[in-house]
Amino acid sequence: MEDHLLVILPHPDDESFGVAGTMLNYKEKGGKVTYVCMTMGDMGRNMGNPPIANRESLPLIRKKELENAAKILKIDDLILLGLRDKTIEFEDEEKLSERIRNLIEDCQPTLVITFYPGYSIHPDHDACGAVVMKALASIPKENRPTVYALAISRDSETDLGKPQIINDVRPYLQQKLDALKAHKTQMQEVVRQTEIALQESNDEAVDRLKYERFWLYPFGDE
Ligand SMILES: [Zn+2]
Repeated sequence: MEDHLLVILPHPDDESFGVAGTMLNYKEKGGKVTYVCMTMGDMGRNMGNPPIANRESLPLIRKKELENAAKILKIDDLILLGLRDKTIEFEDEEKLSERIRNLIEDCQPTLVITFYPGYSIHPDHDACGAVVMKALASIPKENRPTVYALAISRDSETDLGKPQIINDVRPYLQQKLDALKAHKTQMQEVVRQTEIALQESNDEAVDRLKYERFWLYPFGDE
């Protein structure tokens, strides 16, 4: 079976932060990458500086930004679920997890990456992780792909221990930065701070940029 990485995250830009290097490395090794983005980030707080969007135009602009980032990250398939930003926790969990399960069955991924529910700071992140894990848990373990969970809250290591997977993504640093830059409306300040941190070179933020960390998610039936 061809290696196929399926990334499922809630917002345009989540992919560039947490998994950009891992996706590029997957491509380099000849695998296929699909990114399912649950929302259009239509409730994003930033409109660009100077503003290049307003509340009405933001979803369309963010869609374009995401398409640009997807090109830089060499994503084969970009799937937009079109859920409303900041409301994933209020979706019908049963229906959404069934939709995700159907997607997983269509894609036949060998690896799935999503947020670690409870350790991902933003309610959309936690809700996305929870519903994807629910979908994966319903797949018999013999057929279940490998699952990497992205935990980003401060207490992740204290509670979960060290991440089992640490990907050195230094070869992809420039593409990762370019992908972040593609998210113009949201990421200007982050990119500016990141570039400063890179120049100073021993910052915690730089370490997070160079190494992508994932935890194996326990389904309880392994
Ligand atoms: Zn996000």
